[in-house]
Amino acid sequence: MTYDVAVVGAGIAGMTAAIYALRAGKSVLLIEKESVGGQITLSPKVENYPGFTEISGLDLADGVFNQALSLGAALEVDEVKSVTKEGGVFRLVCGYSEHEAKSVVIATGLRHRRLDAAAPFEGQGVSYCAVCDGAFYRGKTVAVVGGGNTAVSEAIYLADICEKVCLIHRRTGYRAEKAVMDRFLAKPNIERHENKTVEAVSGEAGNLVLTLKDTQDGSTSELAVSGLFVALGHIPANGVFAELCELDESGFVAADETCMTKTPGLFAAGDCRRKAVRQLTTAAADGAVAGLAAAKYVDGL
Ligand SMILES: Cc1cc2nc3c(=O)[nH]c(=O)nc-3n(C[C@H](O)[C@H](O)[C@H](O)COP(=O)(O)OP(=O)(O)OC[C@H]3O[C@@H](n4cnc5c(N)ncnc54)[C@H](O)[C@@H]3O)c2cc1C
Repeated sequence: MTYDVAVVGAGIAGMTAAIYALRAGKSVLLIEKESVGGQITLSPKVENYPGFTEISGLDLADGVFNQALSLGAALEVDEVKSVTKEGGVFRLVCGYSEHEAKSVVIATGLRHRRLDAAAPFEGQGVSYCAVCDGAFYRGKTVAVVGGGNTAVSEAIYLADICEKVCLIHRRTGYRAEKAVMDRFLAKPNIERHENKTVEAVSGEAGNLVLTLKDTQDGSTSELAVSGLFVALGHIPANGVFAELCELDESGFVAADETCMTKTPGLFAAGDCRRKAVRQLTTAAADGAVAGLAAAKYVDGL
């Protein structure tokens, strides 16, 4: 069967794209390599998705998935390994299956580079997103680990909410744009812990103790914080689409608010796309735009 739309990745962006394309009367195949729902299933509490004062990421994802299923989405649990386009039809080769579709929505999201030492406290005082979780630490002391644009921007964002922000960086030089760096240096409540790495995290949610190691002399020290934000960078996974769309220097798909790529019929939605704000709302918004654009493209064939 040749589907009207194949969606690669069943996170919020992909599932929303499926809902919009299905409601436009198209047949849709969702292909997901791991578990349906994507990143947000890791979050025990979401407080910024309109319509829900508080909801677990799992419940939110379940609701969206059931909506897509009830509209007739087909699901294949498999990893897309390559995508080609011949004679106007996309061919998606997966680990165990192959599929054809008239259009494709890339919704592969991203992974946050993890800090192994902090893994046991993920969702229990350790976060990967200041916009998502910063409000839980209003008036408290938090730490951010990292030294790039993301880490510096997260520290600035948290400095407006928290009493104190400790930025832990393994070097003294920062890989952030000058304008961002100027704002960072102007914040009186950001304390820099340079030439330090986080070796261990102990304590309990809300009262964490970080063991820091000095990269120069190997000495260790302890830092007590209410929360730890890990900002070591993002890992997108869009290599399989590199022939059909442009990827930026970080590996994100070069597509604007219209979600179109350089290949007709190929769209990109959600965190996998080059964009400024990576949130559930922007993933859902992209999904709507891409799902409708894919349906329109199929109508025009
Ligand atoms: C712990 C945590 C807490 C968060 N909290 C909030 C919050 O409170 N509020 C908020 O707005 N945002 C929050 N976010 C961010 C939010 O989850 C993301 O912005 C959003 O989920 C992105 O959705 P997406 O569909 O673009 O990508 P993802 O959720 O990353 O989904 C992409 C999916 O594609 C699949 N995939 C990737 N490659 C392939 C392939 N080759 N073949 C098949 N499948 C593939 C992946 O397995 C994944 O399931 C949080 C993120 C995390 C990690």
